[in-house]
Amino acid sequence: MSAPRKNQLSGSDMPAEQADRPTREEAEAAVRVLLRWAGDDPSREGLLDTPGRVVRAYEEFFAGYDQNPHEILARTFSEVQGYDEMIVLKDIRFESYCEHHMVPIIGRAHVAYLPNKRVVGISKLARLVDAFAKRLQIQEKMTAQIADTLNEVLQPIGVGVILEAAHQCMSTRGVHKAGVAMVTSRMLGSFRDDPSTRREFLSIVGNASAFSVSNT
Ligand SMILES: [Zn+2]
Repeated sequence: MSAPRKNQLSGSDMPAEQADRPTREEAEAAVRVLLRWAGDDPSREGLLDTPGRVVRAYEEFFAGYDQNPHEILARTFSEVQGYDEMIVLKDIRFESYCEHHMVPIIGRAHVAYLPNKRVVGISKLARLVDAFAKRLQIQEKMTAQIADTLNEVLQPIGVGVILEAAHQCMSTRGVHKAGVAMVTSRMLGSFRDDPSTRREFLSIVGNASAFSVSNT
């Protein structure tokens, strides 16, 4: 593998370099080009405000680039009364965007870890998922980024992450297959090595195929 480039994202990376980020006006002009490419007229009344709206929507869709996943997990608690059982946050809905087609990937994440003295506020796990979801992604990479970041920052005994998601690039274009959910997982530490830990996680989360991920 070649050395990662400076603004290539991985679990431990800071947000990409923003030095050559275009201006809002440039981004809106690019939307007008796409509207013309689609065959419409950006100067007609119904589309006049569309470039501005699209650019604002992009600020939401891609808010993850401005977040540092390590910082989200920085504040931990060690007073847990000796709690040493699995912590699971399941059914965390996320909206991400396929890096090949820039269309939504909608699904849920199940995030678990076996603490080693330190725990993190549970909302932070959901924010961690969002920090990686709100970027251009492929599901496999996002799964690894969430698990690896948890592992690096909390240094727990084990980490398990399962993502199940519908990809609109499969349902609205290309092969046009709706109702298909892709399931990815990453197991680290005891979740990888200890079958009983892994079984406990899977039974808490339930059979992945039993979840319905809406494709519409
Ligand atoms: Zn795609």
